[in-house]
This record gives sequence, C-alpha cells and structure tokens, in this order.
Amino acid sequence: MHDPEFETGLMWFRRDLRLDDNTALYQALLRCKRVFCLFVFDNAILEPLPRADRRVEFIQGSLSELDQELRKATPERPEGQGGLLVQQGLATECVPAVARQLKVQAVFAAHDDEPQSITRDNLVRGHLAELGIGLHTYKDHVVFERREVLTQAGHPFGVFTPYKNAWLARLEQKGIAVHELEPLWSRLAALPLKSQPGVPSLAEIGFETTNLAALKIKPGASGAHKLTHEFVDRLDSYHQTRDFPAVKGPSYLGMHLRFGTVSIRRLVNLAMARKVHGSQGATIWLNELIWREFYAAVLANFPHAATQAFKPACEAIRWEHGKLAETRFASWCKGQTGYPLVDAAMAQINQTGYMHNRLRMVAGSFLVKDLGLDWRWGEAYFATHLNDFDLASNNGGWQWVASTGCDAQPWFRIFNPITQSTRFDAQGKFIRRYVPQLASLSDKFIHAPWMAPATELNKAGVVLGENYPLPLVDHAVARADTLARFGRLKLAV
Ligand code: FAD
Repeated sequence: MHDPEFETGLMWFRRDLRLDDNTALYQALLRCKRVFCLFVFDNAILEPLPRADRRVEFIQGSLSELDQELRKATPERPEGQGGLLVQQGLATECVPAVARQLKVQAVFAAHDDEPQSITRDNLVRGHLAELGIGLHTYKDHVVFERREVLTQAGHPFGVFTPYKNAWLARLEQKGIAVHELEPLWSRLAALPLKSQPGVPSLAEIGFETTNLAALKIKPGASGAHKLTHEFVDRLDSYHQTRDFPAVKGPSYLGMHLRFGTVSIRRLVNLAMARKVHGSQGATIWLNELIWREFYAAVLANFPHAATQAFKPACEAIRWEHGKLAETRFASWCKGQTGYPLVDAAMAQINQTGYMHNRLRMVAGSFLVKDLGLDWRWGEAYFATHLNDFDLASNNGGWQWVASTGCDAQPWFRIFNPITQSTRFDAQGKFIRRYVPQLASLSDKFIHAPWMAPATELNKAGVVLGENYPLPLVDHAVARADTLARFGRLKLAV
C-alpha cells in the first residue's frame, strides 16, 4: 500500500453507486489517510423531473444499501459512525461546502462526460480550487473512454465494427484491472456527530413512490447481483433470444449500468470468460456492452451530437411540424398509432420504464420514418421515461434509427412495423400482454387488425376507431415520403 498523500479526502458518488470495484473510491482510499463519502441529490437534476420517477426511487434505494455497506465496512471509531453523508441542494454548492466543513484536501469522483455534467464538474473544480482543494476524477463506468480507442491515424472512430476490433485488441493488450477495496476499508472515516450519515426518504426529498417494487426492480448492488446471477444461466443463448420481446432473453441490467450499481469490468470479465470457451451468446452480449462504450466515446469526442445530427448534412432534413405532427406525436407517446407492436412497445415503456431493444428500434423507426418526426422528439420522450436512460446510448440509438448518426441504419432501410411484428412476436404474445383489447385476435391478424375481416373483429370484441385506433398512417405511403425526404437531402449533399 502506498503512503497516502492526503490527510483527508471526500468521495463524491454520482453514477457509481457501489463499493465493489469503484475506481474513484479506490483511488481516494489509496491516496488519503481517511475518506468521507458523500452523495448529493442535485436539485439541478431533480427539479425538472415528475414527482414520481422510478429512477429517483432506484437511486434512493441504492443509496440506502450503500450507506449500510459503508457502515459495515467502516471500523468502529469513538468519534462517530461510518456511512454515507447525503445532502440535497445544488451539487455545485454542496460539494465545496461539505469539503470545507470536513476540512478535506482532495475530492474524488468518477468521470462523467455528459455535457451538463462537464459544466457542473468545471464549476465544482473552480469552487474547490478557491479553497485550495483539488478535484480528482477517474474513469469508472466504461472500460475504455474518450480517446483511449483510436484509429491508426489517431482519430476517434465513427464506425462500430473497426472500433469494436480495436477495443478488443486493446483489452487483450491491457487486460482489465478490477480493484479490490476491502484491504483499504480501515481508511473509511466516521462522520463527526453533528453530521451523522443517513439517507433521506423519498418524501423527504420531495418525491413519491412508484411501481418500482411492483415491477420487482431491486435497486443497489444486491439488485444487480441478483439479475447477473439469473442472467448467467441465459447468457449462452442470448444471441438466439435477444430479439424476441416476449422472451426473457436480455439481462435487464441497463438501469444498474446507468447508476453504476454493477461494475462494467466485472460484466466484461464475465462475458470474456464465456467467449473464450466459444459461447456465441456471450460474444454477442459483449458486443452490446461495446456498443455502450462506442456511444460513450462518440459523445465524449463529438459533443455536438448531443443536440445535433452527428452528420451535419442531416440538419437540413425537413421534419414534419405543426398541429398534425404534434397530434401524431401525442398518439405515438400514448401507444395509439394503430400499429400493434409499436403500441405495445409504448405501453411497455409507459407502464414499466423499460423497452426491449428490438422495440426501441421499431418504435423509434416508426416515429422518424413513418410519422416523419424529428428524432429529438422521441429522444426526449425516452429520456424522460426510460429507467436506464443514458444520454450517450439514447442519443446514439435515436441517431441510429433516424440514419443521422455515425454508423447508423442507412436512410433507405425502413423498418416495416408489420414485418417486424410477424418476425419477432409471431404469436402476438407480447402484443397481447400490452394491448389487451387485441388479445382475442388470431395470430394472423393481431399484427395488422385493420386487415381482419369484420367477423373476426366482432368475435374478438375489437371496434377499430373505438377501442383500438385505425392506423395513423399507411406504411407504404409513409415509406415513400421518407425516401423522398432523405432523397432530397442526398441530392443536396
Ligand atoms: P442487454 O441486451 O442485456 O445488454 C446489456 C447492456 O449492454 C445494456 O444494459 C446496455 O448497457 C448495453 N447495450 C445493449 N444494447 C445496446 C445498444 N444498442 N447501445 C448501447 N448500449 C447497449 N440503452 C441505454 O442503456 N440507455 C438508453 O437510454 C438507451 N436508449 C436507446 C434508444 C434507442 C432508440 C435504441 C434503439 C436503443 C437504446 N438503448 C439504450 C440501447 C438498448 O436498447 C438498451 O441498452 C437495452 O435494451 C437495455 O436492456 P438490457 O439491459 O436488458 O440489455
């Protein structure tokens, strides 16, 4: 163990709500004789949110667990108890204030490359500097970040497959260091009695409980551990099951990866261990984790993509706007497009905050290429509703479906919402679950009820235009409009 450089440090948890393999906490414990731990419920983030938000409840639950773990890990001290200090306010004010009160010499945190986080961290860094305190930040939520994986010419990648190959080559070269923090627990500090730790309840931070528990979404590292444990048994068949929304195929770890209740390095090690034994499922799942890294690197290296098309020429696309566009957007949000798979997908996100990956592509494509709406409208809706919302992946996913991003779906490839439905939900199991008014339709007509004969609709109790909408648009017409919309652009480029 190194001799610590600092007497006292402060670990500022953000999107890394775990003790296991936590890089910033590891560095804090390595570099300081004693370390305090802090989380700030940042009003700059909380204020725009609805009062019932699964993500806030998930964070609150994860913090309670983190606090308990810290209490257990901190040695008994006469001056008080170990645990997590939780504040609510503006992070830009709270972090320097706590650092000053606790007389720390250094603050530690994980990198966060989202534009708003960069602004926040720069402000905090400035305030801390005025107090003579340094802000030390470390890579944590990805294996390789920023400019670590570059082309041979030294540029960030804009295409996934060569990025993936370079990423895998670097992994082979560098390996993955997983940090063991336990030998350093003795450096966790007890908080002075006047600032005893404790996690406020949801009500205390101004929020209400959601259906998180009813959905059996368990927060914290224990929740991530349970999901990982269950997924290990399915991992080898991931490549066969991952595209079928009615099947329990994927890991459902997105929310845990978002809030860092699981270590990405542990998950990559898990996938690699199976991949080397020829598991196709593990190979494909690892690719998905690499997509996550790819989009994180795209956001870090091309920050304009957060608000604009990655391909600047696509800013010239003329999306639909006006009253009709807004009404259609509202129908899409409510799952009232008349296309059952799209509507089931929207019901899933609205009821649970999760949407299956295949359906994110189908519903996204429908918004952009059937309704002709700006991908940013859909991106914003997902950002509010997805439990696993992550700016980089959400933006990357939307720019992929809209054909405006790097390595995106070619603009002339347009998902047919009916074909997607018959391929990936052949028996309509998923549709029946989320659009119950169609449940009695036959497998043949459940994908496009307007094509069903009147007798079948009657028998199934479906009254189109009353208890289930007629299609908002004709896919064939919408497809032609989209080809023209992008075609014009292509000519102009
Ligand atoms: P699994 O299939 O088990 O995959 C494991 C993990 O790999 C995921 O948790 C995720 O971290 C990562 N991953 C998987 N697929 C992708 C992908 N295509 N791109 C980036 N990372 C991926 N993912 C988010 O984490 N947050 C988002 O806000 C988000 N928005 C999306 C929006 C659109 C329009 C699209 C098409 C995709 C979006 N994705 C997003 C990617 C993907 O749909 C989800 O990561 C995945 O469905 C989460 O479910 P899971 O945890 O069961 O995934």
